[in-house]
Amino acid sequence: MQETTSTTECHVTHLESAIDGTRLDSDCLQTLYDGRPIWVRYDLDSIKATVNPDDISRREPTMWRYNELLPNRTLADIVTLGEGMSPLLECPRLGKALDVPGLLVKDESQLPTGSFKSRGLAMAVTMAKYFGVTRVALPTAGNAGGAAAAYAARAGMEAFVFMPEDTPAINQYECVQAGAHGFLVNGLIDACGRIVGEGREEMDWFDLSTLKEPYRIEGKKTMGLELAEQMQWSLPDVIVYPTGGGTGLIGMWKAFQELRELGWLRTDKMPRMVVVQSSGCDPIVRAFDSGERFAEPITNATTIARGIRVPGAVGDFMILDAVRNSGGCAISVPEESIQEWMKIGSRAEGIGFCPETGACVGAVKHLSEAGWIEDGDEVVIFNTGAVQKYPETMQSVLPPLDCAATQDWSEFRKRYSGDESPESVLYLS
Ligand SMILES: *Cc1c(COP(=O)(O)O)cnc(C)c1O
Repeated sequence: MQETTSTTECHVTHLESAIDGTRLDSDCLQTLYDGRPIWVRYDLDSIKATVNPDDISRREPTMWRYNELLPNRTLADIVTLGEGMSPLLECPRLGKALDVPGLLVKDESQLPTGSFKSRGLAMAVTMAKYFGVTRVALPTAGNAGGAAAAYAARAGMEAFVFMPEDTPAINQYECVQAGAHGFLVNGLIDACGRIVGEGREEMDWFDLSTLKEPYRIEGKKTMGLELAEQMQWSLPDVIVYPTGGGTGLIGMWKAFQELRELGWLRTDKMPRMVVVQSSGCDPIVRAFDSGERFAEPITNATTIARGIRVPGAVGDFMILDAVRNSGGCAISVPEESIQEWMKIGSRAEGIGFCPETGACVGAVKHLSEAGWIEDGDEVVIFNTGAVQKYPETMQSVLPPLDCAATQDWSEFRKRYSGDESPESVLYLS
């Protein structure tokens, strides 16, 4: 029997400014503090006294199994489409190709709305609803908008989504399909974010932007909690993560610290966190290389990996702190190589790698060649989104199917030479 409810109350003690530790009230809506993001803090001793890993293992396989480590007040409050637990897949063939035998992929493409954005937005919308919000707004490079629209609909809220004008049709439609007001903006995600900020007073919407409210991190934290549980409460040597706004990386690093303090991990060893960006938009990599704690925004950011097309991240210092404290690194891969890495990954393992993760596959190859990933290292790549949400990207590299214009086996046999490139697939009408 699986338990559906937890007997414990919320364990949040307070919120805290990420820049200077100022203590903030957790019983009201909060946004940024002094222009910077906010952490959620818990009474870890009381969590430890009420629940243990065995209890958790008997619960339903969703992110809400970590309820005590989440900010929702009760389980009855949650706004959910059934998110988590995503599979942790062994990848022996791809691992061989990359010379990293211990390669694993955590496949977040299987979450509601086709990306891991669901974890963060399920949590943020849950909390917004709890505090009485009825109208939300956010800027998006693509997947966050679809997730926000879906969870707003689920909560009976109104949503306004602002996206760059070149955002692919599928991300535009998924917002409108879920009843959100969708708007195209002649600029990148930072321009979209400015509109949301400037409209706040007059439109009375709550700003769900990445890291501009405290709870999306907590939702994304569950990727790290899940990973630890799936690895029997240990952690890999290296985590490779496509980084845009950075909530996922920051959230996971926070999860690991909390698990360590709870004493739930079997070893003290923490993973080295690797930020992966594209050469077309790599502000965090540049800041990492030059030893800075804050990143200079990039101009003319271009990449097909639109989830990481974030020219300036409000949580830059949180990303860079986590990477440095973990002994990790930040690297960019050539923009032109991303599609090739997507194909190599998908063909080796059957996992539909999104472009953001394509970049990670290339990064792993580079890091293993450079000796930074060492023999025997256990390496986890996050596949953050479903490749099915990127039809334009696939179309631009994969040739159209060869139409046999016949229903005959013999016609097929005549045309099938057996030596065509792996791309060409015959279509039999
Ligand atoms: C948003 C997004 C990212 C970047 O995630 P952050 O945690 O904000 O850095 C990566 N991949 C995909 C598919 C995304 O949608």
